[in-house]
Amino acid sequence: MAVKDKACKECGHLTKEEVCENCNSRQFVEKYKGTVVMFDNDNSIIAEKAKTTGNGKFALKY
Ligand SMILES: [Zn+2]
Repeated sequence: MAVKDKACKECGHLTKEEVCENCNSRQFVEKYKGTVVMFDNDNSIIAEKAKTTGNGKFALKY
């Protein structure tokens, strides 16, 4: 059975680890409305709208 990614409560980064790789937070939420994958966060209009803070997989509306 596949384990669903958890969303970091601080930055929205999606991970299966116990610690967020993006901001080192240990607080996660399991409910979120959607996901976005960021490749070039600094130059992305989506990143601006979604307020992501790095590259990788992020949750929306967590
Ligand atoms: Zn985080």
